[in-house]
Amino acid sequence: MDPGPAAWNELLPSTDPREALQRKTTADWLVIGAGFAGLSAARRLSELHPGDTVVVLEATSVAHGPAGRNSGFMIDVPHDLTATDYAGDTTKDERLIRLNRAGIDYALDAKSAYGMSDEALSLSGKINGAITSRGVAHNAAYARYLQNLSEPFEELDADQMKLITGSHCYQHGLFTAGTAMLQPAMYIRELAAGLESNWVRLYEHSPVIELLRKDNQWVARTPKGQIQASRVVLSVNGHLESFGFFRRQLMHVFTYGSMTRALTRREVTALGGKANWALTPADALGTTVRRISGTGGERLIIRNRATFDPSLSVNKNRIPRVAQDHDKSFAFRFPQLKGVDMEYRWGGRLCLSRNNTSVFGEIETNLFAACCQNGLGTAKGTVAGKLIAELASEQHSPLLDDQMADLEPTKLPPEPIASIGANAILRWGEYRAGREL
Ligand SMILES: Cc1cc2nc3c(=O)[nH]c(=O)nc-3n(C[C@H](O)[C@H](O)[C@H](O)COP(=O)(O)OP(=O)(O)OC[C@H]3O[C@@H](n4cnc5c(N)ncnc54)[C@H](O)[C@@H]3O)c2cc1C
Repeated sequence: MDPGPAAWNELLPSTDPREALQRKTTADWLVIGAGFAGLSAARRLSELHPGDTVVVLEATSVAHGPAGRNSGFMIDVPHDLTATDYAGDTTKDERLIRLNRAGIDYALDAKSAYGMSDEALSLSGKINGAITSRGVAHNAAYARYLQNLSEPFEELDADQMKLITGSHCYQHGLFTAGTAMLQPAMYIRELAAGLESNWVRLYEHSPVIELLRKDNQWVARTPKGQIQASRVVLSVNGHLESFGFFRRQLMHVFTYGSMTRALTRREVTALGGKANWALTPADALGTTVRRISGTGGERLIIRNRATFDPSLSVNKNRIPRVAQDHDKSFAFRFPQLKGVDMEYRWGGRLCLSRNNTSVFGEIETNLFAACCQNGLGTAKGTVAGKLIAELASEQHSPLLDDQMADLEPTKLPPEPIASIGANAILRWGEYRAGREL
């Protein structure tokens, strides 16, 4: 139900679809969902149980869902988006940073195991960019927060920001080196192919439409097949609710991206700046921007706007409306690229919880969940997938304790209050973001 194309996937050569599940079969382990969490879970299971059958069922195709639609930031130290000053207890943040870093490490390990390129994944860092005085104040608070955590960072002034981005807009930047940057579709495709070379079986276009427990086994039904497994991992992010779990506890938020066509040589010269950079906005509801150069040429990518859509789908008019905001944000930042069109426009789902916690653990006998990544699922999903495999294999580790320390997502107000309230907060936040949007 994600609107528009998965742009990162469109940049890559098309591949033949994998077969759908079309028969009755069995497995030791069934993983439902082939995103960051599901593929990481399958990888860890295949490492821990080399002789076992591990099957992954994906409703659409690999890299077509949010895994191929995100902005590709694997963030280690998330910006505390609500802080104006930061002097609180750092224990929780240190725990989350340990988890994010373990996710990044596991992805880097997959990179070397499966011979991925730097384009698929590299530890290249990111900049938190500020345009307005409010944004500069946010960055100052972020710098204090990082100092409090003894995390290194580098401050960039307006001239340095222009030298990197080619844009005259940014007044201040805060560079942190620990973020890994992905070509997300390339990474996820190569991870899937690597797993298959390791005997994991992956079926596409095989949505699980029923999951029942029978005689100590789980039975998952797809439109054309059925699979019986001893243990199941649900790694479907917000679709956990479609399985009947955590109803009215998960917030389904769509956010949107646009990617330019490949820039001509003349446009690249007019743009200036470096060939690859990645920028998150100082204001939580501002605009994320990336410049990439690699497969598909040199391009810019814009991401902004967020809408709360509890039905997990959006109206078809949404993309054209959001496109106007993307075009304004692009024109403001890059007036030298007047006339450069967007080739791809898309939306995708995030799963958030009110108290910023994930769903992780054994939710019924031999049914495990690693879902609700709170918008940072490239790192969080990767580590949650790895750790859910370890939990299901009865392993213990301090990192697993870190993950298990998350509370349950708190309840949402009833509809339509939740939708009206959440969308009003988002619209107000976007209005306050001003030029950061
Ligand atoms: C525009 C945009 C930008 C983003 N930018 C970033 C970013 O820079 N950094 C970051 O960390 N995160 C970002 N995100 C969020 C990120 O994409 C998600 O957090 C991440 O994809 C979650 O990973 P996951 O594996 O838990 O779930 P998903 O990637 O959603 O994977 C779940 C999979 O389960 C499948 N599925 C669902 N139901 C079924 C079923 N019944 N049967 C079989 N399969 C099923 C789905 O098709 C899907 O492929 C962004 C998202 C969007 C939309």
